[in-house]
Amino acid sequence: MNNSDFTDFVSPSPSDAPKIRVLKFGGSSVGTPEAIVGVAGVVRETSIECRVVVVVSALECVTDQLEALAYGDANEALGHLFSLYRQHLKTARTLLLPKAVEAYRHVLGKEFATVVPSIRRIRGRAGSKFDVDTILAAGERFSAPLISSVLRHAGLNSRHVDASHLIRVRDPENGHVDRDQTTRQIRAWYTGVSASTVPVVTGFIGASSCGRTVTLGRGGSDFTAALIAASLNAEVLERWTDVDGLYTADPERCPDARKYDQLTLEEADFLNRADQLGMHRHTLEPLIESRTPLHVRSFKQPGTGTLIMPATIIAAAT
Ligand code: ASP
Ligand code: MG
Repeated sequence: MNNSDFTDFVSPSPSDAPKIRVLKFGGSSVGTPEAIVGVAGVVRETSIECRVVVVVSALECVTDQLEALAYGDANEALGHLFSLYRQHLKTARTLLLPKAVEAYRHVLGKEFATVVPSIRRIRGRAGSKFDVDTILAAGERFSAPLISSVLRHAGLNSRHVDASHLIRVRDPENGHVDRDQTTRQIRAWYTGVSASTVPVVTGFIGASSCGRTVTLGRGGSDFTAALIAASLNAEVLERWTDVDGLYTADPERCPDARKYDQLTLEEADFLNRADQLGMHRHTLEPLIESRTPLHVRSFKQPGTGTLIMPATIIAAAT
């Protein structure tokens, strides 16, 4: 299904407000330089039709490595972090012109430096949950400026945005989000974003009321994207991954797995809470409240994906 198919499915918005699509790219969609080029193509194509907000995860497997580093041998943590720094720089070199690589190296260096005190405290056995979260958050803080630079290279006007300014976490222990404050912060931020800008927001990250970095739990970029889509009344949240839609079981391991072509938001929430859809467990909550459709799709396996819609829209279309 392409973008115009989706537009046929939902009735046109009665207001003149510019349409917004939130595009979320998971780690596997940004796992290789080729995949990142694919992301840039999708964003460029979508931005011809409407305003786009991009939400990105860390590059594939990076959060796993950061987790291992945060809980592993503290004496080796800094070396491991430096390897990740080099890996990102290497990816940047294959995608960007030297001047843009330099600009990215500067941002990467700053993000690296932010993590070092947390690693030191963990090494001195004085680390807290905030230090672990600061380490885990580095994956998205390394990836968002990279993806944003690649979008600029592709001719778009883009900036990266640290979601700790947008997502307010009420209870840092369990990543519980203060929804009202978060909605206010997202709306206030977006009024300052020019119509031609494609922001690239770090998934997975929020901040406590005292401004300290907190993560939303593994897979949390889905939730970030849903919070942004709901707050901005986006016409759709597109969740891009390496599989063409949601299945009854992992299609790679289970040949009998069946794809869900369409679900209501409530059905998806039910299945997701039962751990059947592989999205962050709170993803559907903001979307149900705002009646925002979710389209799960892939550019690696082009197809129709899975459309998750408000029940009333599905009923009206059948
Ligand atoms: N990078 C984080 C994780 O791997 C968040 C996400 O990908 O949604 O859990
Ligand atoms: Mg991930």
